[in-house]
Amino acid sequence: MSPVHVDILIVGGGPVGATLALALQKTQQSVMVVEAVEDFSTLPGFDQRTIAISQSSQQMLEAVGVWSELPNTPIQHIHVSQKGFFGTSTIHAESYDVPALGYTVRAGNLGWAIEREIAACPNIDWRAPARVVAIEHQANYEQVTVESTNGKIEVHANLVVAADGKDSSVRSMLNLKTKKKDYNQVALVAKAIHEKPHEQVAYERFSDEGPMAFLPLEGRESAMVWTMTPDKADAMKALSDAEFIKRFQQRFGFRLGRLLSVKDRASYPLELVQVPEPVQARCILIGNAAHSLHPVSGQGLNLGLRDVAELVELLSAQGSLVEQTVLEAFMQKRHKDHQRVVVFTDGLIELFGAPMTLIGHMRGVGLIAFDAIPALKRVFAKFTMGLWGRLPKLTRGILPNGKV
Ligand SMILES: Cc1cc2nc3c(=O)[nH]c(=O)nc-3n(C[C@H](O)[C@H](O)[C@H](O)COP(=O)(O)OP(=O)(O)OC[C@H]3O[C@@H](n4cnc5c(N)ncnc54)[C@H](O)[C@@H]3O)c2cc1C
Repeated sequence: MSPVHVDILIVGGGPVGATLALALQKTQQSVMVVEAVEDFSTLPGFDQRTIAISQSSQQMLEAVGVWSELPNTPIQHIHVSQKGFFGTSTIHAESYDVPALGYTVRAGNLGWAIEREIAACPNIDWRAPARVVAIEHQANYEQVTVESTNGKIEVHANLVVAADGKDSSVRSMLNLKTKKKDYNQVALVAKAIHEKPHEQVAYERFSDEGPMAFLPLEGRESAMVWTMTPDKADAMKALSDAEFIKRFQQRFGFRLGRLLSVKDRASYPLELVQVPEPVQARCILIGNAAHSLHPVSGQGLNLGLRDVAELVELLSAQGSLVEQTVLEAFMQKRHKDHQRVVVFTDGLIELFGAPMTLIGHMRGVGLIAFDAIPALKRVFAKFTMGLWGRLPKLTRGILPNGKV
């Protein structure tokens, strides 16, 4: 069979790969997406987790047509505290003249909204279930073998973008060096209905057992992301609802009154994955394939979407036939953003993971000081909202063809 030629081949149709495809189809470039899973509702990134979307990611999702039908809950306030010690801090959207500090969405709904938009774009060549099984660099293109239920095809792509997640098989195929740090923790997630309204407050609570977030959803529902050791998570998952709620309230307190019910318990192993040089020939890694983080401050997808925004800007300016040196320079630029987020999230885990009482009190003093210094809070808020540093056009809601 003769080879198929495409400008850009995206491996992985999760939230990062699919958003890239949607943004690129507004340019003149031909795009193929190879996704291992056939049914959108069973894609790993669109499961029952709840995602905090930053201001800049919201603008992007709006620009690519995904946001308008996506149910979401604005986060107006972020409340940070630690169990057993004094000192809290609260950040308010109104202090920064923004409609919200961020938004929560159910990952399943995000998948549904993306699927709808992809279906409306006939020029995205979406292949699923399919996998890339070999990549060979040729002088003028990347020769990629794609395997599906219909057999194998050969694709010649100007550029291969790997967005195939934390355990990226493209990364292994290219033999790219990977740094991993196992936190020996899992994120236990669940959703709960509570007695009092959440008033659009997102809670970040730290304790010597690890951090916990409680994110507002529609009505009186919030989503917990609770970090703990794997054996504790197994035990927690096995508890009755009543016992689970009791344990949660011991840790979180009664800010939202009593929890009335709990559902959708699931757990995810946590590790930090970094790829120091995520480029080879005309192949580039983005999203979780290039960096996978602890979800402590809800930054993973937001960081991956900023990869998308920068890449779209580069490809709109230069076309898809980009040289390795250009891709390397691009990734060096992205590296600064990656490092900033890694230092921030990893630093939080180290700081708040320390169990000693003295450090606990120092953290309390730190939170009070933080609360009293507006400049420091502004830095934190801008970081959380994804409005830090130079912003690519797409994160300001501007499409590659200049349309808003
Ligand atoms: C509990 C939890 C809470 C989180 N909360 C937040 C949050 O609040 N905010 C935030 O920004 N981030 C959050 N994250 C992180 C976020 O979920 C990830 O960063 C995001 O899903 C990464 O998207 P991705 O598209 O890069 O990778 P993935 O979602 O992993 O998608 C990769 C895709 O590639 C496909 N694939 C894999 N291998 C192949 C192959 N060989 N060939 C073809 N396709 C393949 C997979 O099927 C998948 O669809 C959270 C993560 C967890 C675990």
